[in-house]
Amino acid sequence: MLMKNTTPLQDVTDEGTPVSVKIRERLAQARKRFHANDNIAEFIEPGELESLLDEVEVKMQGVLDSLVIDTAGDHNTGNTARRVAKMYLNEVFNGRYVKAPSITEFPNAEHLNELMIVGPITVRSACSHHFCPVIGKIWIGVLPNEHTNVIGLSKYARLAEWVMGRPQIQEEAVVQLADLIMEKTQPDGLAIVMEASHYCMAWRGVKDMDSKMINSVMRGVFLKDSTLRREFLALIPR
Ligand SMILES: [Zn+2]
Repeated sequence: MLMKNTTPLQDVTDEGTPVSVKIRERLAQARKRFHANDNIAEFIEPGELESLLDEVEVKMQGVLDSLVIDTAGDHNTGNTARRVAKMYLNEVFNGRYVKAPSITEFPNAEHLNELMIVGPITVRSACSHHFCPVIGKIWIGVLPNEHTNVIGLSKYARLAEWVMGRPQIQEEAVVQLADLIMEKTQPDGLAIVMEASHYCMAWRGVKDMDSKMINSVMRGVFLKDSTLRREFLALIPR
């Protein structure tokens, strides 16, 4: 699959170069970071995600071979390499490879200036350390001003899904989400609380089924105004 020639006929110079190498070269050229939780969509050309899927499938098959699993004889794992490649690229880590969801912002015509809370929004991610699921909830508190852009409630969930659809570290994920919401809506204040189970602690390691990690990020007036902060924390049902 890896050797399938997907390059245009006139372009023979990079024939056989894995598509991941081409994407990495563009990232290096632009001096862009490509950590696990970075979005790299603007460096992927049309059609390349399909080739990347083929490439990941071949590498995943290599992992199964090294795990000494007879994928040719075992009817359960025969197509596992392809399934896992699809799951990573098109589903659980899709937030790395596609552009941000388009969000329509409206002017704050009603001059809303009261605390608004959205949540709980279910979030699904995976830890960058083990690629184990991280499943939890977030609550978002927004204090708008008259210049704030208003976005639909469901749009917060779509932005969260995009940020969480990457291998993440919970502390960094909430910061990325806060930066994104600040940039899109420009409120006076923003507060995010995330509570999640980390399956790398339940399935392996300490094998603790009940422990959860909770963290928060506060921006703008939420940093200065402890009454507002208390009001938000008191209102989220935990
Ligand atoms: Zn982990």
